[in-house]
Amino acid sequence: MSTTATPSSSAPGPADADCLFCRIVAGEVPATVVATSEHAVAFRDIDPQAPVHVLVVPRAHHRDVVSLAAADPALLAAVVALGDEVARAEAGGEFRLVFNTGAQSGQSVFHVHGHVLGGARLGWSPG
Ligand code: AMP
Repeated sequence: MSTTATPSSSAPGPADADCLFCRIVAGEVPATVVATSEHAVAFRDIDPQAPVHVLVVPRAHHRDVVSLAAADPALLAAVVALGDEVARAEAGGEFRLVFNTGAQSGQSVFHVHGHVLGGARLGWSPG
């Protein structure tokens, strides 16, 4: 018997009509989608900070990565897996995965998203 968790198919609440990334997932706001899975969507960041800069979001709305990990760890794993798929296709499988968490860290969209950054040797200067 498998003990592998599968992501919950239901969101913690209805999609937020005011949430930009819910609207991108729903196809209501255009984005350059590069990969999808049953539970996650990957699209290019509108203001890229590296040669490869793709955002990976769960289809279900969760505020940030801590909330997502607590509510549905398998869904967080699905987000990471789609980021890895994008990085393998576009950055040789080597990448940085950033989840800004809270306004002080730079989070500006409160629908959890992993920044997949790669395609070049990356510096290390978050300040
Ligand atoms: P964060 O600051 O970590 O919340 O990241 C939000 C990211 O979303 C930023 O890197 C923005 O450039 C990006 N962004 C904002 N609006 C859009 C959009 N319509 N399509 C794609 N990326 C976007």
